[in-house]
Amino acid sequence: MRIILAGLGAGGLFAGIAVKKRNPKAKLIIVDKKDYDLLSPCGLPFAIEGIVPSFEDVVHEYHLPDIEKYMKHEVIKLDPKNKKITALHEGTKFDLEYDKLILDLGSSPFIPPIPGAFELLNKGVFTVSDIYDCSNLKKWAKPQQKAIVVGAGAIGLETAVALRHNGMEVVVIEMLDSVLPKAIDSDMADILSVHLDELGIKVMKGSRLEKINGEDKVKSVVIDGHETDTHLVVMASGVKQNCEIARTAGLEVGRFGIVTNERMQTSDPDIYAIGDCVQVKNAMDGKDWTMQLAVAAYRQGLVAGTNAAGGNDEYMGALTTFASKIGEIEVAATGYNSHFAKERGYDIFSVKAKGLTRPDWFPGAQEIVLKVIFNKKDGKIIGAQCIAPQGAAGRINVMSTAISAGFDVHRMQNIELAYCPAVSETYDVINKAADIASKKFELIKKRSV
Ligand SMILES: Cc1cc2nc3c(=O)[nH]c(=O)nc-3n(C[C@H](O)[C@H](O)[C@H](O)COP(=O)(O)OP(=O)(O)OC[C@H]3O[C@@H](n4cnc5c(N)ncnc54)[C@H](O)[C@@H]3O)c2cc1C
Repeated sequence: MRIILAGLGAGGLFAGIAVKKRNPKAKLIIVDKKDYDLLSPCGLPFAIEGIVPSFEDVVHEYHLPDIEKYMKHEVIKLDPKNKKITALHEGTKFDLEYDKLILDLGSSPFIPPIPGAFELLNKGVFTVSDIYDCSNLKKWAKPQQKAIVVGAGAIGLETAVALRHNGMEVVVIEMLDSVLPKAIDSDMADILSVHLDELGIKVMKGSRLEKINGEDKVKSVVIDGHETDTHLVVMASGVKQNCEIARTAGLEVGRFGIVTNERMQTSDPDIYAIGDCVQVKNAMDGKDWTMQLAVAAYRQGLVAGTNAAGGNDEYMGALTTFASKIGEIEVAATGYNSHFAKERGYDIFSVKAKGLTRPDWFPGAQEIVLKVIFNKKDGKIIGAQCIAPQGAAGRINVMSTAISAGFDVHRMQNIELAYCPAVSETYDVINKAADIASKKFELIKKRSV
């Protein structure tokens, strides 16, 4: 059996492993346009910062028995009828035939159509997507000079911190009115804004970058009508899915990407798709959803690889469980935030609880804030967000599991959590939030009778 893996990203890495585990005799053919095997993109901002010492540390080799690798080969066409793909290598096209095909084509940085943005790309304007743009960006980063970061999502904020640690004056421009707007609510984002301020990073919310000036390098930018001298611009304004090849080949592409079923099959049953380029179902309500995070790609990769090799596995849907470290603060979230919950038609109520990472008498205790969003109809958890110097991701992993298990307020009150004063409080912030929510839910139920 010939299985082609088109794209070796976070999803492809696990798809290949699953193929070989399920069917060691399958011929696995990997085709990717980059000139190295694997990248850990999540490490890029930390390599710019210097916590990860070198960009070489985020690049890895990929070895599996009996595989053919075609690196520096760009897939330019799919031909589902004749079960073959066309790849381009140094100007030469050639075809490869498959029995099963797994598409792992990822996404590309979205560069808004701002005058100067494309013209000055790599001449002071940079994206944060691979080792080449990031190592150029790091070389360009000069202490005391000004950097503008466009977009206050996790990539933008992690990069802003990295540039600040490189001694730059950093301004983040965000069109919406809070930071991390897709992941957390504005009241939680305010906590993070205070920390960004402490780090000396200025955030301009509700602002627009209108123009980038310069001839052979960036000289200045225009923000909300005002021109300011600038040395460097980082475009962290989102990503666009790499779906065009699939669309042209006649595969179904929805609002959020290449349409897949729970087996990660596309509209052609011999073609699977995984990762950033796909549309999946939301794990809570089964509605169309997308999740551009490595954690979704890896699980989808395992499912697609197993199924392509003759096995039977299912992807249960995405919750968008996410974590980031912004300076000294850990931010994590899962499920819908209030905005998406309302957009999806939920009538919600939410609670916010404050706790400590350790008892107040134990050295090193720090504040932890947890916000939980519930469905008013049945009291089920539909989202959670947590911010703390440490322990936020751990709490959110518990909440993600609780959402997957369909927990409501009452079940959340009964979650049993480990305690030791060196690592936690007896009455954890999760239990506190559940108790507040229980009282609130009782009142809601009484009022609705
Ligand atoms: C700076 C940064 C930080 C991030 N931090 C986190 C994080 O902390 N946590 C988290 O969960 N996620 C994070 N992400 C997101 C995560 O990296 C992606 O969601 C994940 O890599 C997606 O995996 P994928 O397999 O879909 O695609 P990718 O890993 O992007 O791989 C796609 C592959 O397809 C190849 N390709 C594309 N088009 C073609 C073509 N036409 N022909 C041949 N090959 C092609 C590319 O070369 C690439 O190797 C981060 C992303 C970035 C950029």
